[in-house]
Amino acid sequence: MKKNLNQKLINLIEYYSLINSNLLISKTPIKRIAKNTLDSTSGNKQEKLNKLKKKMQLIKNCDLKNNAKNLVFGDGNINSKIMIIGEGPGANEDLEGKPFVGRAGKLLDKMLASIKLDRTKVYISNVVNYRPPSNRKPTENEIERYLPYLISHIEIINPKIIVLLGSTALNTLIGNEIVISKARGNWVQKEIGSIKPWIIASFHPAFLMRQPDQKKLAWIDLKMIREKYKNL
Ligand code: URA
Repeated sequence: MKKNLNQKLINLIEYYSLINSNLLISKTPIKRIAKNTLDSTSGNKQEKLNKLKKKMQLIKNCDLKNNAKNLVFGDGNINSKIMIIGEGPGANEDLEGKPFVGRAGKLLDKMLASIKLDRTKVYISNVVNYRPPSNRKPTENEIERYLPYLISHIEIINPKIIVLLGSTALNTLIGNEIVISKARGNWVQKEIGSIKPWIIASFHPAFLMRQPDQKKLAWIDLKMIREKYKNL
C-alpha cells in the first residue's frame, strides 16, 4: 500500500515537473482571485478617479455600455467644492466622452456664468455614464447598477455642495417619493457614502429649454447656490 502511494507520488511529481515544476516546488498558494488592481480607495484624488474610470470601462454585460461609443465620466475641476450631477449622456456627450457638451450643456454653461462659475470651478458628472439609447431615461435597473460608481465618484470628489439637475438625479440621490417642482430650491444635508454635503435640486437645462418660463425659478436656485458657495 505504502509502496503504491509512493509510486503514485513519484508519478505525480514527474507529471507536474513536465507541465509546471513550480506547482509542487512553490509553497505559496495559487492565487485564484487576482489582486484588485482597480481598488479606487487608495492613491491621490486623480489616481482614485483614474481607477474608478478604469473600473467603469471594464463593466460587463451592460446594454448601456454596449450601445454607447464612449464612457462619459466627468469634467471640470476635481478639487471643486461644487459637484453637478445630471441624468445621463446624450449623443454629443457620447461622441466627445464629456458631460454636458450639447445644447443642454451650452445652457448649463450660461447658467453657471450667471453666477460667475464655469467648468474650471465646478465638477460635472451624471447618474449613468454611458448614453441611454435614443436619449431615453435610464431605467431603475440601470440607475441601481451605476449608483455604487456614482457614490464612489462623489466620495472621491468630496464636494461641499451637490447640485442635482432634474428628477433622475434627484430621485437617485434623495428618494423617489419627491418631485423636482417641489424639491427644487431647498438645501438638504445628506450622507452620501462617507461624506455629508449640502444638496440642492434644480431643473435640468433640457427641461428649461422646453419650458423657458421656468427659468425664473432656476435663477432663484442659482442665486442660492452662489450664496452657499460664497459662505463655505
Ligand atoms: N443631459 C444630461 O443629463 N447629462 C449630460 O451629460 C448631457 C445632457
